[in-house]
Amino acid sequence: MKDYYRILGVPRDASQEEIKKAYRRLALKYHPDRNPNDKEAEERFKEINEAYACLSDPEKRARYDRFGTVEGFEFSDTGFDSFASAFSDIFEDIFSDFFGTFTGQRRRTRPKRGADLRYDLSISLEEAVKGCEKEITIPRWVNCDLCGGSGANPGSGPVRCPECGGSGYVRFQQGFFSVSRTCSRCGGSGTYIVTPCRACNGEGRIRKYRTVSVKIPPGVDNGSRLRISGEGELGSHGGPPGDLYIIITVKPHKFFKRQGLDLYCEVPITFPQAVFGAEIEVPTLYGTERLKIPAGTPSGKEFVLKGRGVPRLGGHSKGNQIVRIYIDVPKKLTPRQKELLQEFARLSGDEVQKSFMDKLKDFFSGE
Ligand SMILES: [Zn+2]
Ligand SMILES: [Zn+2]
Repeated sequence: MKDYYRILGVPRDASQEEIKKAYRRLALKYHPDRNPNDKEAEERFKEINEAYACLSDPEKRARYDRFGTVEGFEFSDTGFDSFASAFSDIFEDIFSDFFGTFTGQRRRTRPKRGADLRYDLSISLEEAVKGCEKEITIPRWVNCDLCGGSGANPGSGPVRCPECGGSGYVRFQQGFFSVSRTCSRCGGSGTYIVTPCRACNGEGRIRKYRTVSVKIPPGVDNGSRLRISGEGELGSHGGPPGDLYIIITVKPHKFFKRQGLDLYCEVPITFPQAVFGAEIEVPTLYGTERLKIPAGTPSGKEFVLKGRGVPRLGGHSKGNQIVRIYIDVPKKLTPRQKELLQEFARLSGDEVQKSFMDKLKDFFSGE
């Protein structure tokens, strides 16, 4: 008598869940699709199915436990359907992912969409703000010209697979149900190549580089993803091509820092400009602008240039440019400049320091 528990590697008091798990693991491991032409695996697979068919049914399991046999344990051999209804949950779980062959459909005739491609594109801040057009070169699989995609050397067209008669599938009895599995000789294509094409090595396709022109819209940022429909890998058997995804990286700018839609920059002015006010020139991404600095502007003061920031992607609004003023402290002075500054220092004394300390005094005394 066969020990079904040992076959599934579970204890005699295993729960249904444990039995199902063990079966799933073993069925995947020993499935004929994964072990083509392996008699031993095929035997194991048969055993596993038999064990599971018994232990997964409480009634049969009880009988088996009591009598050590499963009387009246018979499966109608109507193939896939009866099996599917008996084990539909686990069946879908296991077999839909791994073995499309179970449905008996001919895989080769099913249109398959091409894979998506990803391209990382690095652009400047100016390009991100204004939009640009870039030419990028991407590799893509294309049908081999020499063999027209058949993979056979010209003059030695593919012949019908002798193993499966061209269907791509082999049907056979597997324990209590019948299985159709992919023909291992032709890999399911139904044809078989005698002399592989010398250009593509029998692959039927070769890698080709193409140049694609890409329009980058204004307002993109780091991580923006552009989808270019239909520029991915080609589909097979009449399936549509995949898409091309462009992932944007914006290079750091030496003058502007971006924060959302706003651009920040720092502009130096002289101490007299801060004191008397001035009109200065400020670079923006849209050209140079004049900016009025009012008299008595402190260092660190921010001015806003409206609408000189980044445009909203796909929108009409724009962010601002924020200009932060700082007072440039000269490191080198002419003797005359020095003389005047010393004079200024003498005249102003330590006024600033004094009023600052006065404020602090108020602060500490709590008034
Ligand atoms: Zn075949
Ligand atoms: Zn070829």
